Amino acid sequence: MSTRLPHATSEEPFEPRVTSYGGRGLFATKSIPAGTLLRTCPAPYASAIYAPFRKEVCAHCFAYAFDAGKNAWNVKNDASPASRFCSEECMQSWAGEHDLSLVTRVEKAVQALAKSSLSVKKPVVVPVIALDGAATEITMQDLDDAWQAAEAMDGKAGALVLDEMEEEIMRFVLSAVLHKHYEDAATAEKDANGTQEGASAAGSRITSDLDASALSQNGHSTHSTTPAGPFAAFLELQDNELQHVRTNPAILPAQIRVWLFLRLAVMGVPGRGGRGSRDSSARGSRGSSARGSKNPSARSSQRSSPTRGSQTSPSRDSKRTFPARTSPERQNLATIPELLPYLSTPTLLRAILARDHANAFGLFDMQEKGESEMLGWAVYVAGSYFNHDCAPNVRKVRRGRALQFVTTRDVAPGEELCISYVDVQDTKASRVAQFAQHWNFVCGCGRCRGEVEGDHVPTNAEGSHVL
Ligand SMILES: [Zn+2]
Ligand SMILES: [Zn+2]
Repeated sequence: MSTRLPHATSEEPFEPRVTSYGGRGLFATKSIPAGTLLRTCPAPYASAIYAPFRKEVCAHCFAYAFDAGKNAWNVKNDASPASRFCSEECMQSWAGEHDLSLVTRVEKAVQALAKSSLSVKKPVVVPVIALDGAATEITMQDLDDAWQAAEAMDGKAGALVLDEMEEEIMRFVLSAVLHKHYEDAATAEKDANGTQEGASAAGSRITSDLDASALSQNGHSTHSTTPAGPFAAFLELQDNELQHVRTNPAILPAQIRVWLFLRLAVMGVPGRGGRGSRDSSARGSRGSSARGSKNPSARSSQRSSPTRGSQTSPSRDSKRTFPARTSPERQNLATIPELLPYLSTPTLLRAILARDHANAFGLFDMQEKGESEMLGWAVYVAGSYFNHDCAPNVRKVRRGRALQFVTTRDVAPGEELCISYVDVQDTKASRVAQFAQHWNFVCGCGRCRGEVEGDHVPTNAEGSHVL
């Protein structure tokens, strides 16, 4: 039986409830006709375009050049030389949402560090988890230990050359960090006396946000005590850090390298690019290693919320403190002092990537027929509350960078509103394999329970790569 949660809204014909199988879901509170627009997520909280598509996908609206019969987009903005835009309007909208001087400095620092790393022979060796003795499963303590060891590392000790997957993760983290920074800056501006908030205050805000999220995830808190704002809403997403590393241990060293890279880029290290560097010609991405979990082998499968069948793991956040270990001296020397409070420790990066995994949606081209190309991925916070069902009653529609959720049939009061995370035409065996690999759940939906392999496969493509 489901339990009502306190944050139901009166305008929407549905409300969040705790599901009988664990986690939250959205349930109809009245009859909803087919074709009803349930929710629009205007823009993702954070996103990244896969490196090979960066010239072909608009950095603002994700329009794919090939869909418009072009090989690439050519509208640019000097602040972010690698980004492309489908139109002047998109470029201007993007520029209006960013601090262009900050973005320029971030891009230069990232490029300079990537270039200087190329000339360093010895690669950085990051901590990995080796299970020993009777241990059979990675624990949160193992993760904390590995990250603590990473914090103690000297990031200058070797080359921090990110492979393509790591560079994409780095881009995703940066988009989330910038979003968080803009939110903090806007909040600071609204403060009563209009006094500028220092970096240490920003650091303690990260701390309080994470603490509130930890409390909320442990069920000790209601929305009334949770800080409002996009980042707080993002933190409400299920924390999948431990599950992610358990299913893909290689992701941990990749995440650690990404953090070491960002910390170094933001801190600025003399002789390793950063402060004062004018060089922006270096390429940020090298190598061509597989994208691993970022790019599910089935290109038509989208990454999305894993809440069905999985339990909210007890958060470790409540047990930890989050000092912003940023001395004033360090702050003054930093290449990007504004971002130092967010990246001087791995806390925020861990929180971001813990929610990226299995909550993100694939960004696909808009091709109606045939195989869809996955161009990147994005977290749409409000969209992640739709759980999965292999016979979904809701479909997602991407309109530019907005994501909409529309009912595909009449829905009765009390029914859960679900999308499909996979192509509904996939066989049961294929679906089961995808759930296990990407979302770590066993689907208990009506169709799975009643379906023997080889049975009826729906002919409508409602859940099929609609993103
Ligand atoms: Zn565009
Ligand atoms: Zn199912």
